[in-house]
Amino acid sequence: MTRMSTRAARAGINADPVRGAVVAPVSLSAAYRREDPAVPGPFDYARTAHPGRDMLARAIADLEGAAGAVVTASGMAAIDLILNDLPNGARMICAHDCYGGTRRLFDARALQRGFDLVYADCTDLDALARALAPGAALAFFETPSNPRLRLTDLAAACALAREAGALSVVDNTVLSPVLQRPLEHGADVSLASITKLINGHSDMVGGVVCTRDPALAERLAWWANAAGTGGAAFDAFLALRGLRTLPVRARVQSETAGEIAARLSAHRSVARVDYPGLSSHPGHAIAARQQDAFGPLLSFELKAGTAAARALAGQTTLFTLAQSLGGVESLVSIPALMTHPAMRPQARAQAGVGDGLVRLSVGLEDVEDLWADLDAALSAL
Ligand SMILES: *Cc1c(COP(=O)(O)O)cnc(C)c1O
Repeated sequence: MTRMSTRAARAGINADPVRGAVVAPVSLSAAYRREDPAVPGPFDYARTAHPGRDMLARAIADLEGAAGAVVTASGMAAIDLILNDLPNGARMICAHDCYGGTRRLFDARALQRGFDLVYADCTDLDALARALAPGAALAFFETPSNPRLRLTDLAAACALAREAGALSVVDNTVLSPVLQRPLEHGADVSLASITKLINGHSDMVGGVVCTRDPALAERLAWWANAAGTGGAAFDAFLALRGLRTLPVRARVQSETAGEIAARLSAHRSVARVDYPGLSSHPGHAIAARQQDAFGPLLSFELKAGTAAARALAGQTTLFTLAQSLGGVESLVSIPALMTHPAMRPQARAQAGVGDGLVRLSVGLEDVEDLWADLDAALSAL
């Protein structure tokens, strides 16, 4: 098999047998003609399937090493798709420091469908084993976690889930399949928000669920069609275009993030930096083992506290004050106010998301320009 960057660069290339277009055309048609009323063609109705979504799903499944993938209208729709496959009342274990939107969805579905939902610190394997023991059906991991960048040992955590009979699901949004392939470490499902690093250009919203089990992939595709949550044609075209440069973007953004993290941790105003690439990070060894690089995301706290953090986030110019992550443009955010406000203060405290935590998503700008911007904002405090 060819290497990752080759497969990404060639995704959906030469896929047009009719006109020989090098880049496959966008097929926006809602419906596809039949020759015979009893015989559907390869495509029938675009809610069920359309060529662009199929191409994108095959490309991501290929990078993840999955048997099948379902592309959805958002990352949240991808997570909800998994919940569709669980019986009411099922016991679910979810990482306590997952993305705030994930927590909001899990809380609401648990209330509605009687799920026995437990948030656990999945970096602590003993705590995870205890949480799984009473017959859990699902273990939901996020590593590195957003925004604290905590590391879960995927091979060990997925083995514990398997022993307990639980489906192991990993939210791979922060790294994408070019930096981490959870299925290789024993996960049953790897899912991601395509909106973030995979598309990388912050111009569409989408999600994907990849699984090693073809039967599960088929059930998830059934649900996506039944509920109408599959991704749209133009979004699939944009995401496939983004995916072709994903290996290069992920590598350069990781390098720049590593440099920014190192300079921040040496800065006199900074109290703590969370970045798995720093040898001082508690999950550094796990990250080095299970990831191909350390990713574009980092967080830090200032010695001067919450008000200073908010002032800093409002003062940078090359780091735009906005949600989201993984794009070519650098962003700064205050998770407690922006990505995680749906969590109650107590849950945020438990997850270590302090009011003064600053999160950076490092893009493709030059590292010296980014540092000059941050350094000036830090000096102005
Ligand atoms: C953004 C994000 C999601 C949700 O994805 P959307 O495309 O915004 O619906 C899920 N998990 C993580 C880790 C995210 O960062």
